[in-house]
Parts: sequence; structure tokens; C-alpha cells
Amino acid sequence: MTKAYQTFVDGQWLHTDHAMEVINKFTGEAFATVPLADHALTLRAIAGAKKAFQTFRKTPAHQRSAILDKAVALIASREEEIAAVISQEAGKAWKFSINEVQRSAETFKFAAEEAKRLHGETIPVDASRFGENRFGYFIREPLGVIAAITPFNFPLNLVAHKVAPAIATGNTIVLKPASATPVSALILAEILEEAGLPPGVFNVLIGPGGEVGDALVVHPDCRKITFTGSPAVGGQIVRKAGIKKVTLELGNNSATIIEPDADLDKAAARCVVSAFANSGQVCISLQRIYVNRLCVDQFTRIFIDKVKALKVGNPLDKDCDVGPLITPSEVERIDGWVQEAVAQGAVIAVGGRGEGRMYQPTVLTQVTEEMKVMCMETFAPVVSIVAYDSFEQVLELVNGSEFGLQAGVYTNDINKALQAVDDLDVGGVMINDTATYRVDHLPYGGNKMSGLGREGIRFAMEDMTNIKMVMINSN
Ligand code: NAP
Repeated sequence: MTKAYQTFVDGQWLHTDHAMEVINKFTGEAFATVPLADHALTLRAIAGAKKAFQTFRKTPAHQRSAILDKAVALIASREEEIAAVISQEAGKAWKFSINEVQRSAETFKFAAEEAKRLHGETIPVDASRFGENRFGYFIREPLGVIAAITPFNFPLNLVAHKVAPAIATGNTIVLKPASATPVSALILAEILEEAGLPPGVFNVLIGPGGEVGDALVVHPDCRKITFTGSPAVGGQIVRKAGIKKVTLELGNNSATIIEPDADLDKAAARCVVSAFANSGQVCISLQRIYVNRLCVDQFTRIFIDKVKALKVGNPLDKDCDVGPLITPSEVERIDGWVQEAVAQGAVIAVGGRGEGRMYQPTVLTQVTEEMKVMCMETFAPVVSIVAYDSFEQVLELVNGSEFGLQAGVYTNDINKALQAVDDLDVGGVMINDTATYRVDHLPYGGNKMSGLGREGIRFAMEDMTNIKMVMINSN
């Protein structure tokens, strides 16, 4: 039985002329249908959000905070239902789906708290010799309509990372979720409506990125584009958006360094989760493990034993570790990359096989930096282990990437840890952890091709406001 969802635009639940099936990514069968938006509905959503902004921008902070708090409770009350949707639409193993729902509730909680702390500053105007007898301060004001475009791999929490700070700051939102995973966003719309969010503040449009997404990006009434997704689409968005704020959260080929003084057992256990959670489809999935030559054999043995113990299968099974990839064509793509690496000299230590929607957790050794599995974002359950000789050399290898989201360093040597913090060209350095660590109030985002700007509630909120300077002349 497929469930027919309606979409939520301008405070109304709607069917449209065209419905799209949402596929269970493990079985390949439809489990839901959702209405597709056309151009007219896109314009209606933007107009509705623009109108709603006129009142929502004036809503007191305590009221915005209360709505967000109510959403926290409602998300928690529907935890298992939403996790089951995420496991089906994204193919995410149950334990990671539950984790995503719990994180999303926390994301809203942080926004509920930060909504009360949004403030400006006074400026010591008389620091200028032309500024005597003047009092100056700035306030932060919401922008208006924010267009949010999100990827498939965290269909709830990456939506939450855009919607919650937008509400906290008094903006209105038009969301275009990934076409593969639209249902979580519609459930969030139900929750926000029940939480008391006024009509028009949150709108969901489901449709192809090149049509609905593009229409949002170029529309003059969308005052900010907040995008999470691939570098290719991010590049197009930044070129098309024109004069408006743009935040881009893009990809990475994340690296983690293992020094010989690390606790190898602990490090290997974390690396396995970091490489294979959500079948490697995480922007900070561990892809390159650089291990000091002094301990590479020992680390590799421990790591491979743990990889062999992973349970691959139906994401709805409570003990599943690794589910399917988002599409069978992604399985073919990554299989091609692995076969190409093998032809270039890489060795498959474990895995290396794919069929249908599933790709086995795969560990490669004897790789080179030029292979696609190393220098491009794999976004699949494939990780490579590389030996290095000196700390300076490995920092250069990590920085050799065109990406720069996060990196991890296992060492108990404080000087090496601080050298890594200083020298790595990334948005976050995780000491004694892998590149994959994130909780939702940290500033999060990448350097180089990994993006523009930072999310993490407070930081997203700052970028969803304009500063207005106020000067009072007491001369
Ligand atoms: P994607 O293909 O770039 O899609 C992301 C979103 O953009 C989808 O909603 C998509 O719509 C839409 N889109 C596609 N073409 C568009 C266009 N021309 N104009 C406007 N919107 C357009 O990415 P994905 O495959 O869903 O996600 C994987 C990527 O996201 C990876 O590169 C990953 O690293 C990155 N990611 C980054 C972060 C981070 O925080 N840095 C977090 C998670 C994921 P359709 O679905 O309809 O195509």
C-alpha cells in the first residue's frame, strides 16, 4: 500500500496534477506518492512566503522560540514513524535513521534557544575622531523569503538545519527537498503546522532540481539560497543566483590521520562507522585513511576484521549496519571507480562487489592520490588505506584535495595536534576522532570546493539576517 501525501504551500495542503512515486531504496517498490510542483505552484509558494513574511518578521522571539520548542516535542513523539520513512526513502540503516530523527529534534531545540539570543551590538562610535557625540548600535533583521534546497542523504536533519534557523530569525521558507527523499520534509510540514507556525511561513515544493530548484535560485524575491548538495550543482547555483546571499554546503573526500601513538582499536572502530554509516553517503564520510607506516599493518588488520563484521541488508532491520545506495546507477558508478582503481594497481582488501541496489563495504590498499576513489568524492561504502612516513608529508597529502570540509587526526602528541589544526585547510579539525564527527550547534562548513559559509544553528542564523546600523546624533 502506498501512502498518498499532499504538499504544503501557502498554508494549504494540496494535491497537484502530477504525482510522483517515492521508492523504498532497498526493495525498489513505491511506498508513497507525492505531488509534483509546476512553475505556477512555485510562484505561488514564493508569493505566499513573501506575504507571510510581512507579519512573521514581527513575531516576538519568545513566540518563535515556543513554536520551535513545540516542534521538538512533536518530532520526538513521532520518532519511530519518521525513522521508518527515512529508512525507506533514503535506504538508511534503522539505527542511523533514529539517530537522524533525534539529532533533528536537537537541531530544533538549539534554534528554539538561539531564537531568544539573536541580538546586535553597540558600537563605540567615538573611536573615530569624526564620531563624537553620537550613539550607534546595530540590530539583526530577517531577510525575507529563504529558498532552501536539500540533498537526499539526511532528508530530515539537513532540512532542519535550514528551516529551524530561518524560523528562529523570523524569515519565511520555500523548501525544495531532494526528489528521491521528499516524504520526511512533508512530515516536518505537518509538525510545524501543528506547532503553530503561521500559514505561508514554511512551504514545500517537490520537483526536479533543474526546474523547481532553478526557479527558486533565480527568483528576485528569494533573498537567500541555502543549498546543501553536490559541488556541481552548487557551482551552477552560485553562478545563477545574482545578488543575493548564498550558502553552499558541498562535498568532500574526507581524510583521517592515524599516528602510531593512537589507540588503534578505538580509532579503527570509529573509522569503520565513519566510512560505512549511511553506506558512505555522508558529506564527511571517511574516504582516505592515512596511517603511519609504523602501524599501518596492525591498523589494517584490526580495521578489516571490523569491516567483515558489518551487517549489510534491509535498512529496516534493527541490526543493519549498511543499506543500499540511493540508486542502482550509483552502484554501477562506484563499481566502475573501484574496477578502474584495481586496473591502476589498487588492491581490494575486502568487498569490491556490487549488485542491484547494494554495494559491499569495500577497503582498498595500494592506491595512489590520482585515482578517482582518492581524489574525487566517492559517496559510497568505499574507503582507502594509505601508509605515510612523516607528519609533514601526511598534512600535505590531506591538503592535496580540492575539497576542505573536515579532517580527523588521531594522536596524543599535542604538538602534532596543534600543527594539524594550524596547517589543515579545512572547516573543522577533529583531534582523536575521524573527519565524520558532527553535532548540530557547531559551526559547520567547508573551505575550497566544499562550500561557502557555515551552518550550525547560530552561524546559519547570522547569515539569515542583515545588519541594520542605527546612529543617533546627540550634537
Ligand atoms: P545534488 O544532486 O546536488 O542535489 C541536491 C539538491 O539540489 C536536490 O534537491 C536536487 O534536486 C537539487 N538540484 C539539482 N539540480 C539543481 C539545479 N540545477 N538547481 C537547483 N537545484 C538543483 O546532491 P545529492 O546527490 O542529493 O547529495 C549528495 C551531495 O550532497 C554530495 O556531494 C554530498 O557531499 C553533499 N552534501 C553536503 C553536505 C554538507 O553539509 N556539506 C551534507 C550532505 C550532503 P533533485 O533531487 O530533484 O535532483
